[in-house]
Amino acid sequence: METLAGTEGFFVYEGSRLKAGEAELALVRAGDTKSLYLSRPLPGFAGTKLPEGGVLCPLTPENARALMELVPELKPRRLPPGPSFGFGDRIGLATPGHIRAARGSKAFPVLAQQSVRENARTGRSFAQVLADAIFGALQEGYLEGFAADADHLKSVEDAREAAKWGYTFFTCDPSDHVVAAEKLSERELKRRFLSLPDASRLKSEYLDKSFEIKGLGKLWFSEAELMRAAVKYLEAIEFAAEMYRALNQELPDGFDFELSVDETETPTSPLEHFFVVQELKRRDVELTSLAPRFSGSLEKAVDYRGDLEVFRRDLKAHVALAKALGGYRISLHSGSDKFSLYPLFAKEAEGLFHVKTAGTSYLVALEVVAERAPELFREIYRLSVERFEEDRATYHLSTNPAALPSPADLSDAELRRLLQEPDPRQVLHVAYGSVLRSPLGDELRDVLLEHEEDYAASLERHLGRHLELLGVRG
Ligand SMILES: [Zn+2]
Repeated sequence: METLAGTEGFFVYEGSRLKAGEAELALVRAGDTKSLYLSRPLPGFAGTKLPEGGVLCPLTPENARALMELVPELKPRRLPPGPSFGFGDRIGLATPGHIRAARGSKAFPVLAQQSVRENARTGRSFAQVLADAIFGALQEGYLEGFAADADHLKSVEDAREAAKWGYTFFTCDPSDHVVAAEKLSERELKRRFLSLPDASRLKSEYLDKSFEIKGLGKLWFSEAELMRAAVKYLEAIEFAAEMYRALNQELPDGFDFELSVDETETPTSPLEHFFVVQELKRRDVELTSLAPRFSGSLEKAVDYRGDLEVFRRDLKAHVALAKALGGYRISLHSGSDKFSLYPLFAKEAEGLFHVKTAGTSYLVALEVVAERAPELFREIYRLSVERFEEDRATYHLSTNPAALPSPADLSDAELRRLLQEPDPRQVLHVAYGSVLRSPLGDELRDVLLEHEEDYAASLERHLGRHLELLGVRG
């Protein structure tokens, strides 16, 4: 290929070279700074003019937006039918590796997948997360499509903000509106139920009836079960419907909508699943996916802990309901590293599944650091241990910090092995915000940029293994 005028001294990512009308564009890098190179000025892009006539654009959300307009293949899109897989990236450098894992897989990739909580911890925004994914896709020359997931949305304003930037997939987390109905006395439960505006409608719709669900059998509500489901979820349902309506205004051409109740206290029963979806349908909410809370424990960064047969029974019920009530996907959150679960999950979900991962790509980054810059890794581990009690808040973890080895006592090789052990793995995992916002974060990014190929290859291997066990990658 011809060289690009004005890019002497830059590294050009060959796979990213594209023609758009008369202009040529590519992703280039000098030192630790990547830029978008345009062979001529184009509307919507802002950057520095080069003497040869080209323009060098910083990788900002505004330039990402202009790029999406110029190259519509880089615009996030809705999920096609079939399985899908979420590749969360907390650092903003993982997309090239994610693309390599996703290529040749039957699962549609969801690239920009970060939650409000993750963004708060890393100091990023929906806009920047999406920009990082778009430029990462360009770097790999990937034009086969992806979705963008504004994850665990707890407010309508956040949903609107993400919609404005081009997100296509919205994960509504109504957990702040879920009432712990199990803990209420019978009297209190009844009082609350009767004060619901829908109480009499709910009684006539759900009581003394049975609902036949193919593959699951008959569902019926006792009065106590109906009261519990309604008191527990009705406010959450109203909240989800409100978010859905707001998104409908922003995106009249459609969007994907997931309801996630995975971070509630108790496993989601088939009756609760049925009730929630029926009531959402009544409010014209169409689900792309539902993330129930499963039995057993799906902790971050480690394998599933619980009875696989109980998980299978839960999952079968959820899949039967999802098929009967609209054909939405069952979504598995905290899906990183659940290797013992994937074959079962893929088989029982029969292709109607979505899996979300995020923290594991951060841990793969730490593997690269442990290998290439052991002293930095030691510092990261030290900070992670220090911060653990604070950083574990809002995550469900059973880690025992007393059992952690002290960083000073470990050789480099022993440090590397920490990444294979459950407790240190979780400690490292939840500290991502503290690390990325400290000066160590900049050093970490530098190491990843310097060893970019290592990082991409390790991600491809690790997430490729997830996809293989899910049966969607050969
Ligand atoms: Zn979740």
